[in-house]
Order: sequence, then structure tokens, then C-alpha cells
Amino acid sequence: MSDVCGDELVDVVVVGGGPAGVSAALAVGDAGAEVLIIEREDRLGGVLKQCIHDGFGVLQYGERLTGPEYAHRHVAALKCRQTQGGQIRVMTGAYLHSLRRDGTRWSIDLITSQGIQSIGTAAVVMATGCRERTDRQIYLHGDRPAGIFTAGQAQRLINIDGVMPGRNVVVLGSGDIGLIMARRFVLEGARVQGVYEIQSTVSGLARNVAQCLEDWNIPLHLGTTVTEVHGRNRVEAVTVCPVDGSGLPDHNAAERIPCDTLILSVGLIPENDIIADLGLPLDSSTGGPAVTQDRETQLPGLYVCGNALTVYDLVDYVSECGQAAGTAATRGATTARSAAAPSAHASAGPVETSGDIGQMVPQLLDLAADQPPVFFFRVKRAMDKATLTISRGGVQVESRRLTYLRPPEMIRYELRERAWAALRRNPGPISVAVEAADGS
Ligand SMILES: Cc1cc2nc3c(=O)[nH]c(=O)nc-3n(C[C@H](O)[C@H](O)[C@H](O)COP(=O)(O)OP(=O)(O)OC[C@H]3O[C@@H](n4cnc5c(N)ncnc54)[C@H](O)[C@@H]3O)c2cc1C
Repeated sequence: MSDVCGDELVDVVVVGGGPAGVSAALAVGDAGAEVLIIEREDRLGGVLKQCIHDGFGVLQYGERLTGPEYAHRHVAALKCRQTQGGQIRVMTGAYLHSLRRDGTRWSIDLITSQGIQSIGTAAVVMATGCRERTDRQIYLHGDRPAGIFTAGQAQRLINIDGVMPGRNVVVLGSGDIGLIMARRFVLEGARVQGVYEIQSTVSGLARNVAQCLEDWNIPLHLGTTVTEVHGRNRVEAVTVCPVDGSGLPDHNAAERIPCDTLILSVGLIPENDIIADLGLPLDSSTGGPAVTQDRETQLPGLYVCGNALTVYDLVDYVSECGQAAGTAATRGATTARSAAAPSAHASAGPVETSGDIGQMVPQLLDLAADQPPVFFFRVKRAMDKATLTISRGGVQVESRRLTYLRPPEMIRYELRERAWAALRRNPGPISVAVEAADGS
């Protein structure tokens, strides 16, 4: 594409240089189109740069890589494509400020060290990741001294900046980053008093409970929360209380725990503020917009992938999601560079979920697509055995037994070709349900 009115024009712009964004860009490059990655930090890799423990890439590479190793493989693949003449460009230190539909294309405004810059493109892939919930979002009571960090902030301080945030630590919330950081603090010589979780079940993966808490004798207190922070300049103690079934603390059983640091691991929020400004509704269960299996939103030419779409548990799924978005965005950009061109939504139907499904992507199915879709979902409660059914217009096209379902673990389900053909053929609403089997 050529320059118009001084603004640059590219086939596809990918926003975010984490695993989702780099996978999307690689897919665009492999399809022979021109792609520009916009990244606000000074290098690619996203959050993986600070995740120095191993366990990444088991599905994709069959190896247990650290986060930086996984990111390095992506960046190396990108450089390899560039040297082979692929039209993949990277702009770091560039912050996406806003985007808007501008006639037949998207126009995006960036803030860079040179000022504000505008770029036009046929397709935008948003791969902006997620951010952590903070003390403000959980209504933590008490003082606000130094020493309260989100788990990700502490991870960055220790693993990238080489700074110890504290020596005597309480962790609130049992999300995966909190579990990983509890072990990290112990490895760095700090004392971790315990992990306190308000729910009666752990939010993180079972393997992280075993490897990060049990192996290091770090106590886990379920059904317990921090009700107050104490400290004038620095955290001096926290009060913890057990909670009843509705989450109300029992103050009679309160315990004061001396500590200098409180780590919060209380949830992640997909980063979608910029696209929410476009009036795109966000799915309350995933925190991202509704998309087709190509990760196209209800705005033609706008794709969302990775943790910006839904918080995945494995980076391998994040990369798969980015690749699907990049492939589809290239198709969209090269065949339909106009708002009038047909987008997947012309032939898309909504998917209703029921039973024990807590969240699922895609929420829309492009019925014109030849390839069967892949569903990613989480269940609301633990079940040892369950049945997944997929129907259209009341006609069941797929039924599968699933075992050992746990809310923190995402389930990847690839629809079989026969079922996809039947789903496309039958009229009526599409529904996906998971029901517990055998009283589990
Ligand atoms: C704080 C934190 C710690 C984590 N630690 C672990 C861990 O220890 N182990 C684990 O398995 N998983 C961890 N995760 C999950 C991890 O995020 C995912 O596995 C994976 O990195 C998600 O990839 P992504 O590409 O979707 O997002 P990210 O890796 O978050 O990448 C998103 C990128 O988009 C960029 N960006 C965002 N907004 C803009 C904008 N407006 N303009 C330009 N660039 C932008 C960001 O700078 C970032 O580089 C962590 C997540 C968070 C938030």
C-alpha cells in the first residue's frame, strides 16, 4: 500500500508485542502481507519478559521454556522472516492512543517520542494483554502505607529491576501469579506467611499449588481474607479473617499478622479500554468483546486476540489465538479493504452457552467458514465427569464426555468435521452446554 496524505498505510497493524501479537504478525507475514507491530515498551515479549520460571511452550514446542526463552523464540522467528524479505516491521516505544473507522479503513493514532503519528490500515489486531486488579478494586480497608504491590509489580521489580519489594510477605488471592510470586519470594530469602484466599477453592492451577506452595511449605488459607492493612509509612501488619458462605468476614476470629509487604493476586482484566471507546460491548464473563472463530469483533476489520480477548491459562493457547487472528486479518485486509466488503459477520450466528460453562470464546460462529471452530471455555465449578453437547435448532450435532474439569483450567475443544457440517446445515440458534455427569 502507498502513502496517502502523509499518513502511512499498511495492510495489517498489530497492537501489542507479547506472544499473541507476535504470533499474529508472524501469521500475517507468512501469508505475504505487510504488517506493523506497535509496542509501547522498548522491546517485544510482553509479560513473558518478567516470567523467568519455566513451564511455557509445552504444547507448542514440547519443551518447558522460561518466559524470556519462549519470547526469544518468537522474536527470533520474526527476525528470520525479516531477513527472508517478509514485510514485518516493529515500532517500539509507541503507544496506541486511539483508533477509529475512517471510511473504508482504520485510522490509528500513536504517541511516540516524535509526537503523535497516524497510521491507516485495512485491519487492526488488538493484542494488548491484560492488567491486574488492584487494592482499589477489592475495597481493601485500613492504611495505605508503602509495601502493597500487585503480584505482577513485584514480579517485575524482582525479575527485571533486581529490587526486593519486601522481606516478610502476605499474599492475598490465589491467582497463578500470586502462587508463583510466593515461591519467588522464598527463593530470594524472604519469609512468606501464607496465601489467603476468600473463596473456598484456589483460583490458580493445581500444578502451581503443588509446585509453588506445597513444595515450599507455604501455607494456603482458603475461605480467609485480609480485612485491614496496618502501617504508617510501611506495612507493619495485616488483619485476616475467615469468611462465611457469602464472603462476610467473621471479625471474632480475626488474626493480626505482622509483615512488611502485602502482595495482591486478585484477578486480571483484559485490556480493552481503547476499543470499548468505540462502543463495542464487552462480554461480562470474558472481559473482551464477542468475536467469531477468526477473532473478528462486530466491527469489520477489528480483531482481538490473546489475553485481551479472554485470560488464557497457557501461553500456547495465547499464541494459537494470535495466529488465528493474524491469518484472518490478512484475508480481510487483502480481499476486503472496504467497509462494504463482506465480513465474517454477514454469515455469523451467536452461540448461547448454558449449564456449567462460565465463559467461552468464540461467542459468534462464522458459518461460511470451511474449517471447524475451536472452542476455549472454562467451567463454573469443579466436576470429575461432564458431558459437552453442541446443538443447533434443538438438533444435537456433538456430544462428548469430558473428565476432570476445574474452573482455573481452560478447555480447548476442536469441533469434529462431521459435527461442523451438521451445524452449518441445520437452521436455528446454536447452543453449547456442559452438564455434570454421574452426580459429580
Ligand atoms: C502481571 C502479569 C504477570 C504474569 N505472569 C505470568 C506468569 O508468571 N506465568 C504465566 O504463565 N503467565 C503469566 N501471565 C500471563 C501472561 O500474560 C500470558 O501468558 C501472556 O503473556 C499473554 O500474552 P498477550 O500477548 O496476550 O499479552 P501480554 O504478554 O501482556 O502482551 C501485551 C503487550 O501489549 C502491549 N500494549 C498494551 N497496550 C498497548 C498500547 N495501548 N499501545 C502499545 N502497546 C500496548 C504491552 O506493553 C504488552 O507488551 C502474567 C500476566 C500478567 C498481567
